[in-house]
Amino acid sequence: MWPYASPHEALTDALRLSRGMTYKNALAGLDLGGGKSVIIADPKHDKTPELLRAFGHHVESLGGRYITAEDVGINSADMEIVSSITPHALGTKATGLGDPSPYTALGVFTGLKAAVAHRRGDDDLAGLSVCVQGLGNVGFGVARLLHDAGARLIVADIDGVAVARAVAEFGARVTDPRDAHKAPADVFCPCALGAGLNARTIPELRAGIIAGAANNQLAGEADGAALREAGILYAPDYAINAGGVISIALGKPDEDDTIVRKAVLAIGDTLTAIFRRADAENRPTQAVADSLAEERLNAAPRPA
Ligand code: NAD
Repeated sequence: MWPYASPHEALTDALRLSRGMTYKNALAGLDLGGGKSVIIADPKHDKTPELLRAFGHHVESLGGRYITAEDVGINSADMEIVSSITPHALGTKATGLGDPSPYTALGVFTGLKAAVAHRRGDDDLAGLSVCVQGLGNVGFGVARLLHDAGARLIVADIDGVAVARAVAEFGARVTDPRDAHKAPADVFCPCALGAGLNARTIPELRAGIIAGAANNQLAGEADGAALREAGILYAPDYAINAGGVISIALGKPDEDDTIVRKAVLAIGDTLTAIFRRADAENRPTQAVADSLAEERLNAAPRPA
């Protein structure tokens, strides 16, 4: 749910996000396709139970061909309301492990460590500086894991309350949200909205590694190549942020999360394989991730 400026902007985002879901699921080894819905509304002011129930009826009308879950602007309490209308709403305690964000955060943390190991030879985060942009459901969880692992944090959010919490709990330094990509950090961890890596911001980056949760981080395909040319190691967004969908797909109610955690921790191995192949083939990491996902999609049996 987001206050898109126009239906065109919302449709563009839904199409980009649904493509990302297809590739994310394929790369994570999940036998799901890819779909996404967006609601044009401001989650702070426009969200009502009636609106969420109406959304539930839309999802139900698709008869299970589309499964919905939490994302930007929609939390687990909202999904509980949607799931009162349709069984095709996951990410609740009744259907599985509930809020997927902690698993997304765990996957991002694991992927970030794999990127550090690929660049520096070991994955020790102690003393490393990481700039976390966006301290929402995922970003705050990533910040906590990084802090516990000894990383020094720089944080940015348009929400002053979240920033104050990160300062109080993690001793984080603060930077202006508009300048987060320019922060003098070893790692930049984008956990806000997409398209933050573009022709304007890439030349201004100071971190050598980008590893964060945001969907659609690259504004376009050329930006993946620009990052490689600049010597910046980029963890492809849909590879590193798959923890949430893994928890939704594999989590069962009333079971512990052992199977889910194992699958989420494997994100580190997937990223290491992407980084190595990108080096061997001298290609952008995003292009290699696309190839891996497409290879799995093409090998899948076609429906009769
Ligand atoms: P969220 O809405 O809880 O958090 C987003 C945070 O970013 C908010 O605190 C918001 O104030 C902040 N923000 C917005 N614009 C900003 C800006 N210009 N500069 C700095 N901060 C800004 O969302 P979330 O669930 O934490 O998701 C974060 C990102 O991760 C999104 O791109 C989402 O699509 C992606 N993602 C989330 C999940 C999940 O499990 N929640 C899974 C995969 C991908």
